[in-house]
Amino acid sequence: MEDTAMPDVKRTYYDDSYRKELAAVITAVNGEWIECDQTIFYPLGGGQPGDTGTLTGPDGNTHQLLDTRKGDSAEQIRHQLDTDKHGLKPGDSVDMELDWERRFKHMRMHTCMHLLGSLIPVPVTGGSVGAEKSRLDFDLGEHQITKEDLTTRINALINESHAVAFGTITEAELDERPELVRTMSVQPPRGAGDIRTVRIEDVDFQPCGGTHVNNTREIGAVRISKIENKGKRNRRVHLVFE
Ligand SMILES: [Zn+2]
Repeated sequence: MEDTAMPDVKRTYYDDSYRKELAAVITAVNGEWIECDQTIFYPLGGGQPGDTGTLTGPDGNTHQLLDTRKGDSAEQIRHQLDTDKHGLKPGDSVDMELDWERRFKHMRMHTCMHLLGSLIPVPVTGGSVGAEKSRLDFDLGEHQITKEDLTTRINALINESHAVAFGTITEAELDERPELVRTMSVQPPRGAGDIRTVRIEDVDFQPCGGTHVNNTREIGAVRISKIENKGKRNRRVHLVFE
């Protein structure tokens, strides 16, 4: 990668997670990896996969966009095309289109992981969000959980239609409230200014950089499919859409 001082990429998936298309301008090209001045594509992170979709260039050719990753710096987002013979160059205008069906499942699953975390008040040691299934790992200790009870309680939370709201917290404020960092066990990125927060009304509040739905009812019915033993204290809780 060239060492270039580029302005921060605008992350429209934070302004509007439901946006499916965006016109952007290419700022850097490195083989099949493309960077733009703004993006609707969420980069792999916090247990949530990178977005996929298509990128259409000024010549009208549409390329498959296979993955989205953070770059070497916190402010870089790189999009991987299915070829390096795309002919795109910095300054080109491109049309982005998100694989919305896949992303919406990630949004529903990711929000559901916050609900699951709220039901089991012990440390979270890992997690992963997928379009079909997700999981969270808990340092359970003496706490007791069952698939049936968790399934009942998580669907109740979903059906209660809790609103999901977004805000920011300063690094200093977060330092004073370390208990906020739970789900996915991923510390929010530091040194990039304020940290994004997610509040599920009456249920959960924590720093989180993923994409979420606006109301828990959008998650739909889910089921705890398996509780796996991962050592004396640790349990892996698997969740699927019903
Ligand atoms: Zn989240």
